[in-house]
Amino acid sequence: MRLTANEVFPKGNRRFKSSRLRVAEFRIAIIGAGPAGYFAAQALQSAEIDGKKFAIDMIEKLPTPWGLVRSGVAPDHPKIKSVSKVFEKIATQEGFRLIGNVELGRDISLKELEEMYDAVIIATGSTVGRKLGIPGEELANSISAADFVPWYNAHPEYKNLEVDFSDQVAVVIGAGNVAIDVARMLALNPKELDLTDTAQYALDKLHNSAIREVHLFGRRGAEHAAFTSPELRELPKLEYTDVFIDEGEISAAQQRASSAGEIPKDIKANLEAMAAIATADKKGVDRKLSLHFLSTPLEIKGEGRVEEIIFSLNEVKDGQVVPTGKTKSIKCGLVISAIGYRCLEMPGLIYESGKIKNTDGRIGASNTYVVGWAKRGPSGVIGTNKSDSSEVIKLLISNLTTPKNSQDILEILSSRNITYISQKGWEQINNAEISAGEALGKPRVKITDMQEMLGFAG
Ligand code: NAP
Repeated sequence: MRLTANEVFPKGNRRFKSSRLRVAEFRIAIIGAGPAGYFAAQALQSAEIDGKKFAIDMIEKLPTPWGLVRSGVAPDHPKIKSVSKVFEKIATQEGFRLIGNVELGRDISLKELEEMYDAVIIATGSTVGRKLGIPGEELANSISAADFVPWYNAHPEYKNLEVDFSDQVAVVIGAGNVAIDVARMLALNPKELDLTDTAQYALDKLHNSAIREVHLFGRRGAEHAAFTSPELRELPKLEYTDVFIDEGEISAAQQRASSAGEIPKDIKANLEAMAAIATADKKGVDRKLSLHFLSTPLEIKGEGRVEEIIFSLNEVKDGQVVPTGKTKSIKCGLVISAIGYRCLEMPGLIYESGKIKNTDGRIGASNTYVVGWAKRGPSGVIGTNKSDSSEVIKLLISNLTTPKNSQDILEILSSRNITYISQKGWEQINNAEISAGEALGKPRVKITDMQEMLGFAG
């Protein structure tokens, strides 16, 4: 299907098209419609250079925007997703175009964008799960959270992930918030997800899941965990799951932390939240979630699929985490590693430590910039991207002089018969999802079929 610019931007675009005629505008391409991309757009919208404003094209691989807010945030955390209202406000500002269903490298190259725009901002995040690098990691049902999270969040590229919940025991590796999200999703009673936007196929599977014991393992002490305390504090509130932490493990962590001086506020809050979990009355229910520390995964064992995982038990000596020489084995049918992410590498860019090589967000001496996780690695909460993107935009602005006058990307996409999705098209998908959800009392029912999405987008 080939759409012309008028078909793609039928109404709201009139206003936009007239602004396009103002040649004395800087034209900026933002690649990736996640939080970092939107916050970069927002910073540009409130800036100008000698009275010249910025026209922004946000190019997104999927027909749907919002990045991790749609496909990363856990479905039982709807409040976090309300930031999408900010994104939609940014999208209605003059000079902003969403150009969805267009993939960098497949439909248009970075070089072409660099030639066309005054500056290019890469906001493509980190989508590849880091590897444990241990034997057995490739067995069936050993899965990265980088695949599992978008699976339960209805990301069209992950909907066919093979995951088997037929064993009673699941293990989650990592002591960060993604590990907590995954462990909670596996340990809660799926009826708690019935009124959320969890993918229907995932909900069906979770309802039939045999998992009743979920064990989360951190390789260092509880005082080193990367969790944030609000995520820990909500665990004992789970209605159908008992959460366990060994009380002795937390008091030892508190002692170690205080022996190094005053305990930093975030670590103190984490340890208090974990002590509260350890001492909380248990409900006596059959669903159990246990948090363990000082355990490094050594090997995953099984005949063709996960059956067991072996850990080295560690201790903290002179502030260093070292193996004790002892090991521990857990029989389990599913292992999910939530140990961080790296960027998916794209041609024409240099990567270091899983991120795009950059200096304060600028790539070399070019007018190409990078924001968000692709710039700084997978850290911080959604709001962290606001200040981060805004700093990069200041740098970008300081390097711009005279606007270019070059071809419109829509002409190039049309000439290549590429079906692109506008803000209007996305709004139609959004409305269809929300109406399907209304009938069921859910915030939305996410569409996972690309053709169906394109159909709703008109
Ligand atoms: P993270 O916070 O960096 O945690 C990664 C965890 O993996 C750490 O405990 C790390 O341990 C462990 N790890 C790394 N390599 C390992 C290995 N080889 N073996 C065993 N453990 C290993 O990353 P994340 O959980 O992916 O989260 C990414 C970002 O998103 C974070 O900033 C997080 O706060 C944010 N997030 C926020 C929310 C929320 O606000 N609700 C939800 C999800 C994610 P070491 O410390 O020992 O390296």
